[in-house]
Amino acid sequence: MKKVIAVDLGATNLRVGLFENSRPVADPVTFPTPRSPCNAMDITSILADRIRQVLRISGTTEIEGIGISAAGPVDHRDGSVVSPPNIPLARIPLESPLKAEFGAPVRIINDCHAGILGEVYFGDLSSEKNAVYLTMSTGIGAGIISGGKILLGNRGNAGEVGHFFVDDRYNCTCGCGFPGHWEAYASGRFLPEFFTRWCADNGIAPGWVRDMVPEQVFSLVRKNREKFEGFLEDLGLINARGISNIVVAYEPAHMIMDGSVVRENTDLILPFIGKYADRFLPLPSIDISGLGSSAPLLGASIIASGYNTLIGNFLPEDCGRTG
Ligand SMILES: [Zn+2]
Repeated sequence: MKKVIAVDLGATNLRVGLFENSRPVADPVTFPTPRSPCNAMDITSILADRIRQVLRISGTTEIEGIGISAAGPVDHRDGSVVSPPNIPLARIPLESPLKAEFGAPVRIINDCHAGILGEVYFGDLSSEKNAVYLTMSTGIGAGIISGGKILLGNRGNAGEVGHFFVDDRYNCTCGCGFPGHWEAYASGRFLPEFFTRWCADNGIAPGWVRDMVPEQVFSLVRKNREKFEGFLEDLGLINARGISNIVVAYEPAHMIMDGSVVRENTDLILPFIGKYADRFLPLPSIDISGLGSSAPLLGASIIASGYNTLIGNFLPEDCGRTG
């Protein structure tokens, strides 16, 4: 029986699951993502501890592979994560140390590519040839299949759509340092900041803004809908610009949206996309993921068995690996 470990290294949570023949053996175990490590090896050793814990619970001693879905850019040349959100490190090499620790191949992809892989194998994209998986969570990013194959880019980071330029009115600055990027307005990390800026620029007293999280912003907006309707309109226009860019760039037939920001506030987000999106090309059908935020973990379980998948090879041979 083929057992593999799948890891979803997100900005907030680290989830680890054991899969056997592409099925979860038990519910994945969730841990908080470590945030204040001294160095990269601390993260690797915490991750190894969590994996050992999951193996111990199930009485498993041997695995055939480890698949890691990681938030943030990845570098396939050395199997590392680059500047992950919420972890103050420039680079975390994962592949080599975990391979040495568990004696099994370790494969790594970014979480949006893992997400679309999860949707193809376990969700609503099994028969789609042209589709986009868009996550609006701590960050914003996409996984794209075109003509039935994944778009990877030079080092495996194609689809970083959170850095599309979408606004020059509020000039919010993105985590990457540039102004006007989609993520600087609508991601979980920056939405509260945009809300504060919007209130100041529009002469509206927000009521309560200190250290808000997105859910508190949306809760405030729900309770004072009339007062903050303009915020929903401006946020909706910004989201629609991002979606419009995706549509003209990739012409998907189907778009799956995922991530806590959109999952928990679908009613406040989707109507404005329909209202403001350009129609140069028709809007695709847009659905919320039916996988309950597990698409990246499920995708990681597929990559654990090998880079060659239904929608392409996630590690191109010419990607310039160093080892
Ligand atoms: Zn950016």
